[in-house]
Amino acid sequence: MPTLEPINILLVDDRPENLLALEAVLSEENYRLIKATSGEEALRHLMKEEFAVIVLDVQMPGMDGIETAKWIKAREKTQHIPIIFISANYKESEHLFAGYSAGGVDYMVKPFVPHILRSKIQSFVGIFLAQKRLKSQKMLLHQKTLELERINRELALAKEEAERAALARTQFLAVMSHEIRTPLNGVIGMADLLQDTEMSLEQRNYAEMIRKSADSLMKTINNILDFTKMESGKLELEEYPFDLKALIQEVLELFTAEMSKRHLTCTVDIKQDVPACLLGDMIRLRQVLINLVGNAIKFTDDGEICIRIEVVPDHKDDHTCRLRIEVQDTGIGIPVDKMNALFQPFSQLDSSMNRRYGGSGLGLAISKSIVQMMQGDIAAYALDRGAMFQFTVVLGKLEQ
Ligand code: ADP
Repeated sequence: MPTLEPINILLVDDRPENLLALEAVLSEENYRLIKATSGEEALRHLMKEEFAVIVLDVQMPGMDGIETAKWIKAREKTQHIPIIFISANYKESEHLFAGYSAGGVDYMVKPFVPHILRSKIQSFVGIFLAQKRLKSQKMLLHQKTLELERINRELALAKEEAERAALARTQFLAVMSHEIRTPLNGVIGMADLLQDTEMSLEQRNYAEMIRKSADSLMKTINNILDFTKMESGKLELEEYPFDLKALIQEVLELFTAEMSKRHLTCTVDIKQDVPACLLGDMIRLRQVLINLVGNAIKFTDDGEICIRIEVVPDHKDDHTCRLRIEVQDTGIGIPVDKMNALFQPFSQLDSSMNRRYGGSGLGLAISKSIVQMMQGDIAAYALDRGAMFQFTVVLGKLEQ
């Protein structure tokens, strides 16, 4: 097995001729053979270097092989090194082997068969190399774990920082919106009063423009406020009974003047099985409808707006129903490649349109969040003529 570091093997025998014999058997292999003629010398080598396996003669004068092995197994640094005892007879070996049943210990009887010794050493070296690889992988893993822990800590800090910044932005926008809305209400109120006074045609037009601009500014500010509330998860839905037909009526009334000015017609188709009285956040549902119907009217110069409402049949719960609501127009339509951008905040399909039609590009993003909070979803479809927005919501059913 190719390795960069030498594989050290310790050969311990008091007789130099035996050491030479061992050396001859192992010389073909890519091992670094270190020889010791006594137990003490073997221990000195073991203090200095790392060994893959030890070949240890049992019978030696002074500190014999068994004594030496005891020392080796007692030291933490060397206790895992496998030992192959070379013993003079079978009986001695069996006795020895029983004492070292923990593994990593083997024996051979003199005279040993060279290829058996070679293969025993090869298998111990294989284990040694596998353990080394495992150790370096463990170290690598440990380093990676430390690195990941550091990155996690940094991410947690960055998240905290981002949350603080988001909170500051939300608070800033909430305060600013409030501060802007108060004087703006004054502008709207005074413009209304002004419109009730005697004015020339020119003055009346100016007053109307003031009123319209103030309305659109108010809409943008309300949208920004809603959007920041949604982003920070502060928007909560309420639940109360409401009449769906009355809600649609109310929404359409807001646009009656605009529609008749542009000669747009509107059809409403509410399927018979749609419950008349529902339970949910009517104000937020109205906001979605106002946005979709408002857009349909805004982007349609002639033709009609069509609203369809039906119950989605496969809804399982008896106490709620899933409604599918569609708002279709015959207006300028939406290019297919722009569909994905529609529901992104502050997205308007092109800036020239923005100048012509106004708006903040937040309405659809807010509508999507509301609809999702009502366990539904929203999608847009490009038609041959115009566009269709379709959304679903889950609302409570009220027994009548
Ligand atoms: P805005 O306040 O700008 O209308 P919205 O989020 O409601 O913001 O809409 C984003 C953009 O989607 C609009 O600027 C417009 O380009 C496009 N759009 C939305 N509704 C329609 C529609 N019915 N027909 C064509 N384009 C539409």
